[in-house]
Amino acid sequence: MTFDKLEIIEPILKAIGAKGYTHPTPIQEKSIPILLRKRDLLGCAQTGTGKTAAFAIPILQHIFNDATPEKGRRRIKALVVTPTRELAIQIKDNFSEYGKYTGIKNTVIFGGVKQGAQTKALNAGVDVLVATPGRLLDLIGQGYVSLRDVKYFVLDEADQMLDMGFIHDIRKVIDMLPKRRQSLFFSATMPQSIVTLAGKILGNPDKVTIKPEQTTAEKVGQSLYYVSKKAKPKLLAFLLKTEDVESTLVFSRTKHGADKVVKGLIKVGIQAEAIHGNKSQNARQLALSNFKAGSTKVLVATDIAARGIDVSELSLVVNYDLPNIPETYVHRIGRTGRASASGNAISFCDTEERPYLKDIQKLIKQDIDVVKDHPFLPGGVEDNAVEDVKPDKRRQQPRSSKSSNSSRSSNPSRSSNSSKSSRTPNSSNSSKPSYSGNKEWRRGNTASKKRTE
Ligand code: AMP
Repeated sequence: MTFDKLEIIEPILKAIGAKGYTHPTPIQEKSIPILLRKRDLLGCAQTGTGKTAAFAIPILQHIFNDATPEKGRRRIKALVVTPTRELAIQIKDNFSEYGKYTGIKNTVIFGGVKQGAQTKALNAGVDVLVATPGRLLDLIGQGYVSLRDVKYFVLDEADQMLDMGFIHDIRKVIDMLPKRRQSLFFSATMPQSIVTLAGKILGNPDKVTIKPEQTTAEKVGQSLYYVSKKAKPKLLAFLLKTEDVESTLVFSRTKHGADKVVKGLIKVGIQAEAIHGNKSQNARQLALSNFKAGSTKVLVATDIAARGIDVSELSLVVNYDLPNIPETYVHRIGRTGRASASGNAISFCDTEERPYLKDIQKLIKQDIDVVKDHPFLPGGVEDNAVEDVKPDKRRQQPRSSKSSNSSRSSNPSRSSNSSKSSRTPNSSNSSKPSYSGNKEWRRGNTASKKRTE
């Protein structure tokens, strides 16, 4: 299937051709025909699947086809609400790219920055508005935004929206929308709370489910390093120095942790920047554009800040801390291997994180390949040479204390080498500091087969 089979109008086809897209992704192939028929849509899909084009293309096409001469400034015809600033900016950029030959105007509004530039753009008139919920309500309250003429409404990343406590804001926005409209609702997961919310927004929607949990996990080469918490900074620096990687996104569970990782890397001469909620919007944007331009090779991020990051050619994702929510692992590794590309993800796992690992492997229905030969194996010479760090009081406790893994934690360093799984590190290796330059994570999925030989 190619794009020209989807009855997309010429100006949009030309723009997506210029972007180098030839074939629609599964969500685009399924959703675009439904949306072009002006049906409501309930989409179970996440960022990284090509979701933005799946909704942006039909909306642009409708606005283009509906166009009638307007008196005065343009009115907002499409509203996209999304949870984070980064995601909002990215969606706006995509609308600009896909719509560049349509004459359709858009803008983006989000909190954390002064509103002047945003209200100026709104006053000039736009067809499409991309917004985060808080700033949207704020500017509606001040009279800069009217939703009276909205015909197309997208609620994006609904599950994250609820996680971030936006439910009341969303309800308020929905109450202000005209009843006659086309509504699109996207969420990566569909728990009952999301289904209920979708019921309030959508009429009788068509449903599209794309399972990135499997597709992403299959596409991305994944490997696991058992390492003590204290040796993580050394292992990270070691990997970044020994491997020839263009761009690395490192995930830290906390903002404080992200800053610490950056400090540690800079100390050993590795240029890195952090991106998280305590940074100003401008600092976040600057770090992101440095990373996209390649002047910063390593970006350290928390999950919320990284949710919308779309960097093509992202070579490597490092889970410096394993996430305590298994779906987050899939979101993280989905930063690499986007659309049709393949990528690599490395995860560090200390003793406390064993229960998280178990949950992740259950979700992705596969064991992550363990790198058995690295210099910082727990209990090994290099590991013992690393000074103990003070315990981090902010650290969250593992979710399931009854896990069989945690029962081994009475002897942390040794226990991480004594799992029953054949893929776990070989305890006899732990006495050897030598490292044979294992680059298996770079080989993608083929590595898993080799490693079990
Ligand atoms: P999204 O899920 O919308 O964030 O898209 C993820 C990435 O896939 C972005 O970098 C898009 O530019 C890219 N993309 C979207 N659709 C296609 C396509 N049909 N072919 C190739 N890349 C695409």
